[in-house]
Amino acid sequence: MLNIVLFGPPGAGKGTQSKILIEKHGLTHLSTGDMLRAEKASGSELGERVKQIMAEGKLVSDSIVIEMIANRLDAQSQGYIFDGFPRTVAQAEALDRLLQSHDLGITAMVQLEVADEELVSRLVQRGKDSGRADDNEETIRKRLAEYKDKTLPVAGYYKAQDKWISVDGIGDITAISERVAAAIEQYA
Ligand code: AMP
Repeated sequence: MLNIVLFGPPGAGKGTQSKILIEKHGLTHLSTGDMLRAEKASGSELGERVKQIMAEGKLVSDSIVIEMIANRLDAQSQGYIFDGFPRTVAQAEALDRLLQSHDLGITAMVQLEVADEELVSRLVQRGKDSGRADDNEETIRKRLAEYKDKTLPVAGYYKAQDKWISVDGIGDITAISERVAAAIEQYA
């Protein structure tokens, strides 16, 4: 069973590469960003609570996202792609505990590496194409700062477990997906 953490800054291509891996391996996609946007769109009480935080490019609280993930683990799954989660070391620790309680564990974390200026230009373009509210230059810069401050240490957490793989996230989507596949094969 493959349980992959797809890691990287906003705009690194996690969503795109997740789709390719899901098709290939029949994995369950767990994107906390997608779940939070769905909450927002539904107008739920939780959606109302996280709206402002997301608009500011900050991270929502660990307890909210950990609970969302816990609620979606499913005994029938062939394996998971965690996309945009864990984003703090506390989330990574909680995920390990959660998986252990189901006799599961993370296979590997794949970190997509993309330089800041490329990320900003990709996200500005995505904002124009999709209308996503947080894909504007000011919020993008804040999200990148949150990533460096709170999320990058998560890579160290998986490095310490010998589960970290770095992949160059620049270039053609297919070429990147081949690099990701080759990286995962070392652990599968
Ligand atoms: P994403 O689509 O993964 O870029 O997430 C969009 C926004 O949702 C982020 O900027 C955060 O405000 C929030 N978010 C998504 N996932 C998490 C997470 N694991 N922890 C905290 N906040 C998150």
